[in-house]
Amino acid sequence: MPEFDPSFLRIGHGYDLHRLEALAPEGRGRPFILAGVRFDHPVGPVGHSDGDAVYHAIYDAVTGALGLTDIGQAFPDTDPAFEGHDSARFLRALRDDLARSGDAIVNLDVTVVCERPKLSPRKGEMIANIARELGIEPVRVNLKGKTHEKVDAVGEGRAVEVHAVALVSRAKRVAHAP
Ligand SMILES: [Zn+2]
Repeated sequence: MPEFDPSFLRIGHGYDLHRLEALAPEGRGRPFILAGVRFDHPVGPVGHSDGDAVYHAIYDAVTGALGLTDIGQAFPDTDPAFEGHDSARFLRALRDDLARSGDAIVNLDVTVVCERPKLSPRKGEMIANIARELGIEPVRVNLKGKTHEKVDAVGEGRAVEVHAVALVSRAKRVAHAP
């Protein structure tokens, strides 16, 4: 594990919401993918990319901590290049940016709010995917699922919502002997 520079700590918050619709061709929903895990579910997110709200919220939490461009600016939904795009590629781009700047993720805490499907059986896979795409240890990633108590759009199963908090530091430079 890298040693962090305690004099450089930044916190960031990311939020994302996608409307859920019946899967195409009945509706405009894409297959329901969260943190790279595909759920067998009759509705899925409407979005320009693959609509992976977990990856999108994480991207904004980490870039928010560092004051960098958010996902909507970095990968505009008006750009046909990102149509149906695998959102894992956004996290890989972020990992490369962090490697260049010398910044490193201390930990991530992710909350997924949706009525269905149940996330708990796939939580381990979701955490493993996030950790792999960002090149960090799985112990640095926490993920929890909550319902919205059947009220409002999320509770009625018409949307999925994700909050992510990231703590970012800088890998400690090892002093070399002259
Ligand atoms: Zn999104």
